[in-house]
Amino acid sequence: MLWPTARLRRLDPEVTKRLALARQNSPESETWLTLVEAALAESADVSRWRAAIPAPVEGRPARAPLLHGAEIAVDGRAVRRFVRRLAGIAALNGGAPDRLDAVGLVEAAICQDDTRIDALAGGDASTLRVVAQIAAVPLLTAAAQTIGASVSAAWWEGYCPVCGAWPTLAEFRGLERKRWLRCGRCATAWEMSWLRCVFCGEADHEHLGYLAPEAGETSRKVEVCDTCKGYLKAEPTVSALPWWGVVLDDAATVALDVAALDRGYHRPERPGFALEVRIVGRRSGFWTA
Ligand SMILES: [Zn+2]
Ligand SMILES: [Zn+2]
Repeated sequence: MLWPTARLRRLDPEVTKRLALARQNSPESETWLTLVEAALAESADVSRWRAAIPAPVEGRPARAPLLHGAEIAVDGRAVRRFVRRLAGIAALNGGAPDRLDAVGLVEAAICQDDTRIDALAGGDASTLRVVAQIAAVPLLTAAAQTIGASVSAAWWEGYCPVCGAWPTLAEFRGLERKRWLRCGRCATAWEMSWLRCVFCGEADHEHLGYLAPEAGETSRKVEVCDTCKGYLKAEPTVSALPWWGVVLDDAATVALDVAALDRGYHRPERPGFALEVRIVGRRSGFWTA
């Protein structure tokens, strides 16, 4: 491990258990799981990241997520340190990305701007995309915890009301089986009625359906739309999954993605909303307030 064990001790025993299980079940995901673990360890310093989140910009367009138009000031040094740690775990460019623009990377990741991430990569673009995705997690989860309560009850979009990403999972929660969409970036949950495609808004049941696993487990399924060919994995939950629950469940159900892709369904290539966020690296003293 590349960071002090004291930080790891802060992790919830439940997540430690889940990570160990995930490692056992998919040893090939070791690097990715270690990145997730690093994001969780970093997010444990939640007050540090929360302090950076400004109030939502007034006068945003009605369909814009809460972070749209925000300017977020972060401790540049802390962000660089975190991104370097992630790059080391991922062995990006030999693990020595000293000249990488870490603050720019986090900004591009939050805006889901893959073109910009690829340009920053210089070389290993696919690894940098994974690093970028994880690098944005502490700030995005802090944003959801800080301003997420301002999400309008009237939010009807299929994309995340905080960060603009498409949902990673749909939970059908509790005895009432209400459908809650979950963001795999910031962990926001927002309710949306059944029988409505999250990607294109299709509401005609003739065009909506499910794929269910062929054998064994029957509680999980894949929601599919024949109008836009989009798909979304769905699972029953007792209560809201934490961020790590969303991403680990997503990773543990790759077989469902394969089944959906095999049948011609896909996840949209473009983000739900083209978020505009500016991240500014401050020098020091910011976190000590
Ligand atoms: Zn989100
Ligand atoms: Zn659709």
